Amino acid sequence: MKPKHVCVLGAGIVGLATAWQLHREGYEVSVIERDAPGHGASGGNGAQLSYSYVQPLADPSIWKQLPKLLLSPSSPLKLRPALDPLQWRWGLAFLEACDADTSRETTSQLLALAAQSREAFEEMMLELEPACDFSTTGKLVLYSSAASLESARRQLDLQRELGSSPQRLVTPDECVAIEPALVHYRERMAGAIHTPGECAADCLKLCTELEAALAQRGVAFQLGVEVQGFVESGGRVVAARTSAGPFEADAYVLALGSTSQRLARQLGAYLPVYPLKGYSITVDVEEGRATAPHVSVTDSARKVVFARIGSRLRVAGMAELVGHDASIPAERIETLEAATRELFPHASRFEELHPWTGMRPATPTGRPIIGRHPDAPSNLLFNTGHGALGFTLAFGSAIRVAEALARG
Ligand SMILES: Cc1cc2nc3c(=O)[nH]c(=O)nc-3n(C[C@H](O)[C@H](O)[C@H](O)COP(=O)(O)OP(=O)(O)OC[C@H]3O[C@@H](n4cnc5c(N)ncnc54)[C@H](O)[C@@H]3O)c2cc1C
Repeated sequence: MKPKHVCVLGAGIVGLATAWQLHREGYEVSVIERDAPGHGASGGNGAQLSYSYVQPLADPSIWKQLPKLLLSPSSPLKLRPALDPLQWRWGLAFLEACDADTSRETTSQLLALAAQSREAFEEMMLELEPACDFSTTGKLVLYSSAASLESARRQLDLQRELGSSPQRLVTPDECVAIEPALVHYRERMAGAIHTPGECAADCLKLCTELEAALAQRGVAFQLGVEVQGFVESGGRVVAARTSAGPFEADAYVLALGSTSQRLARQLGAYLPVYPLKGYSITVDVEEGRATAPHVSVTDSARKVVFARIGSRLRVAGMAELVGHDASIPAERIETLEAATRELFPHASRFEELHPWTGMRPATPTGRPIIGRHPDAPSNLLFNTGHGALGFTLAFGSAIRVAEALARG
């Protein structure tokens, strides 16, 4: 029987997009969130809607880069080995996924999901017109050496073959013509990939706008309420156990980001989701030609992304396997500031950096977990594990979880 009342657990961008889709399809929807909407990984993320650039972290090129990535003090990747079997299980599965066939299959699946997501996102934007500093100014992914540019060319060919939207290789001069603020970095680039159709937006602002719109349309939000477990009976979840008491619904969608794994484990389901910690800063921009970029920029060597959101520049990066440690070491923030000053020295006065950290809910392959799980109750669905692309993929994933729910 089709459920009437669905409870979405988690109000990050994935949970909110799910609530949006389910409400459109006529379900009665409730959302439980321990904090305020968008205050998990979604809040200060890189702000890029990266529909065409979905290459997973698990890629064969990792093997060659691994020693440098793990040993260099300035490496964007950090591993703090812990006595945590989940960390080791995840790490081994990640290394296993670093082969050409798996990476190609992931790219293909993510491109399809991203295309579906883009369509659904655009429909939502038309209907809601949220104030979220949305822009379609395209994206440049910069490469600093001929070798990295050559491997980017191969990825470009693969993405073209798999149906991504138009992208092309550009010279440093063309980069500066596309984004004049890169003029100071001209000599440091070997070239770039330009994707004119890519977008950016402030994910936290969108989460806030979605919550307000959904609440007005009758979606019930339980904010400041923690999900602690489940009451099960006859192979079904009959209630979510929460800090405010049991909460009953006909079906549940678990969208708890990097903590999804803990809650799923209570039901006997293993979800290969581990926190992949990252950081961001957000600075006010100095207006003028060749100051802060309007085009989104990814510096592939540093693995740092830059996105313009209104009168601010968001700078995000790093990937750390350090468990759920939410501290913000000063040197990580200094690295992001130094990268910004190097690429865009006149972007900002750098008075306030607004340091932030968040945990990407990462799966070893980079593919999200959407729908039912064989070991979990049948009325509990998952929408999690979107890793570095949760903002990009949220609205497509929401459609897929709604389809799974409707299939019963
Ligand atoms: C540095 C960085 C840069 C990124 N850049 C980009 C980018 O440019 N583009 C892109 O597409 N993606 C990017 N991402 C990834 C993206 O932000 C995530 O994939 C996405 O936010 C995941 O959304 P989510 O809703 O699954 O998780 P979250 O946003 O973490 O939401 C989960 C929610 O569940 C709540 N919750 C958790 N446990 C409980 C509980 N027990 N009870 C009640 N509530 C609970 C949390 O409070 C949280 O609000 C980036 C991530 C990081 C860290």
